[in-house]
Amino acid sequence: MNSSPESAAASAAGASFSRLPLSPATLATLEQLGYQTMTPIQAASLPVALAGQDLIAQAKTGSGKTAAFALALLNRLDARRFDVQALVLCPTRELADQVTQEIRRLARAEENIKILTLCGGTPMRPQVDSLAHGAHIAVGTPGRIMDHLERGTLVLDGLNTLVLDEADRMLDMGFFDDIAHVARQCPKERQTLLFSATYPEGIARLSQQFLRKPHEIKLKEQHDDSKIRQRFYEVEEGQRLNAVALLLNHYRPVSTLAFCNTKARCRDLVELLRAQGFEALALHGELEQRERDQVLVQFANRSCSVLVATDVAARGLDIAQLEAVINVDVTPDPEVYVHRIGRTGRADQDGMALSLASMNEMGRVGNIEQQLGVEMEWQPLSALAPASSERLLPPMVTLQILGGRKEKMRPGDILGALTGEAGYAKEQIGKINVMEMSTYVAVARGIGREAVRKLNDGKVKGKRVKVRMLTE
Ligand code: ADP
Ligand code: MG
Repeated sequence: MNSSPESAAASAAGASFSRLPLSPATLATLEQLGYQTMTPIQAASLPVALAGQDLIAQAKTGSGKTAAFALALLNRLDARRFDVQALVLCPTRELADQVTQEIRRLARAEENIKILTLCGGTPMRPQVDSLAHGAHIAVGTPGRIMDHLERGTLVLDGLNTLVLDEADRMLDMGFFDDIAHVARQCPKERQTLLFSATYPEGIARLSQQFLRKPHEIKLKEQHDDSKIRQRFYEVEEGQRLNAVALLLNHYRPVSTLAFCNTKARCRDLVELLRAQGFEALALHGELEQRERDQVLVQFANRSCSVLVATDVAARGLDIAQLEAVINVDVTPDPEVYVHRIGRTGRADQDGMALSLASMNEMGRVGNIEQQLGVEMEWQPLSALAPASSERLLPPMVTLQILGGRKEKMRPGDILGALTGEAGYAKEQIGKINVMEMSTYVAVARGIGREAVRKLNDGKVKGKRVKVRMLTE
């Protein structure tokens, strides 16, 4: 296995994409997207991936891994050939959706590239039909991809590139055998790219079996201290959950991700926060896909103040604009701590990482300090005073409209209805997510109720719709 020196990667980070062998159209797209310079993982992996070599790349969530493989697979794609030339395996449907969106964005310059998302939990038939029409890129979860291979509706004979995205999470979810099965159906002559946020033992096994002399890139976690402010508060066990409420009232972040070590702790915390009037939602493994989608939509569109999650449940989420991360418990693994706090302070924004620690957790804090080579700043809980007497409420509320992709609902239709007939300003409307069966639209909290009424009374694309408020 070759190793690429981190110093080389670091020196190219921040460099322009134009030093890569990419088409002028792709470079123009990158510029339009505002991707001015390469992220460290892109700088380290793109030269290797574009040269057609196999690759294992490890970097934290949010570091731009999708573009690192997407640019490579798009570069090799022949749009005139109507067969699946690239396959991306992802652990969950929502991650597959995110990857598909990013590839679509990057492929914008090319007119005729067809990308399909193939995941479980959605009907087979439309996927089979779409595949029959021909697709260039398939993005999906291992189980559903296996289904299609078994039925012969997906054929991988023309495949050039296999990508295993979030490989660590796929292994966590027990997908080893499925991945192996899919990989064996791919042509031997191919490029395999493996991306992962952490490096558990199973990755080496995968790589030995399915990668060829892979180039290995591991990026050390680097956080700019000036961007993420880390603060610790000592708590008695009995104060812990209430201390989260104190932190929220004191700092008043718009969006907070609160990490707990256990599901039980998540449940207790959400219960306490909701009882105190916060808009808090839990994200844990027991949610059905549709519930999970709803939770994530509400958090990402800023109509939920606090998302309470375990590490496993939050793995791989790409949520921009996170003002604060709260460590409700101290994690025993310093690497996990670094991952958690890396969720805030993305891009050019400042972030806060606030941690609660009891006497019993001081050893863990010590480990983290050693690993990061920093001494943590401690503050007493008594320093926390509410910054306002008003409830901390998110700026938006979410409306759920019955009908989604199935009904060919498009964001423009909803925006049109709200800014046209209903008479709202564009600024009062937030994110619009069209899902399979429902569409979610965020609107300014103040107009929520009225917007529900207007939409229910009016029409979208000339049709009556059923709308309800998802958040209270
Ligand atoms: P990862 O897969 O490593 O978790 P993503 O690929 O989802 O990260 O990227 C995180 C975010 O960063 C996305 O919103 C993406 O659009 C953005 N991004 C990726 N590369 C760049 C870049 N070079 N410049 C600016 N933004 C980027
Ligand atoms: Mg990713």
